[in-house]
Amino acid sequence: MASADRLLDRLVEVGKRLVAEPRRLNRYSGVQAADELINDLDRFPHAYVIACVMDRQMQAEKAWLVPYELKQRLGAFDIGFLGGLPLAAYERAMAWPTHLHRFHQSMACFVHDAVQRICRQYGGDASAIWAGRPSSADVVARFREFRGVGPKIAAMAANLLVRDMKVSLSDHQSIDISADPQVQRVFTRMGFVPQGASLTDMIHCARRLHCDYPGIFDGVLWELCRTVCLPQEPRCTDCQWSTLCGYGRTASQ
Ligand code: SF4
Repeated sequence: MASADRLLDRLVEVGKRLVAEPRRLNRYSGVQAADELINDLDRFPHAYVIACVMDRQMQAEKAWLVPYELKQRLGAFDIGFLGGLPLAAYERAMAWPTHLHRFHQSMACFVHDAVQRICRQYGGDASAIWAGRPSSADVVARFREFRGVGPKIAAMAANLLVRDMKVSLSDHQSIDISADPQVQRVFTRMGFVPQGASLTDMIHCARRLHCDYPGIFDGVLWELCRTVCLPQEPRCTDCQWSTLCGYGRTASQ
């Protein structure tokens, strides 16, 4: 079997193992209380949705802190309370005493909109977005309805629900690989797409490689791009994929 095929098989195998692992506390922000809030899908499913809405144009760890910081600043976080707050309350909480997001003004609007949508469309229970084993297409489409959520965030939201939160969906076909330059860097170095390929090319490639669940590569690729597959100098000698990865094999010759 060629290295590329073995690499693909191994990536899928590890991706499946991550999905099959028992649920644990997922570390998104690195702050215990904030991560506990995000992981509490039974009592605060809207915290997960709000964190996903925030996860753009700033460091991910800080974005995933926002629900907890809002809880502290607003004094409560149950959806009934949040749903009764005017936009001005979110604008103030997002801006004072420190800015919670690089684009705190627009994000305040997005949080307010998200809460109103959860109250109006889901009866105040955000878990209705993913309850009852819906299709991945439905879940992605429901996230896309939130203001500020594009295809990348919607795919990520569905992917983390499946992989980290162990939410059961009827299929995974509409969960794309993360359209992120960092993920793209690793995917390109591994040899799945040529240098200069676009994010769209990468998405289509991942769909071809594993149409049942194109986003299955995300977990491994994210870990690599944060640890060894660094932008300037990949640390291939420390990478467990070096004998299969196209770049790693070339670098070792
Ligand atoms: S072998 Fe090197 S280039 Fe390939 S994934 Fe690992 S660190 Fe990145």
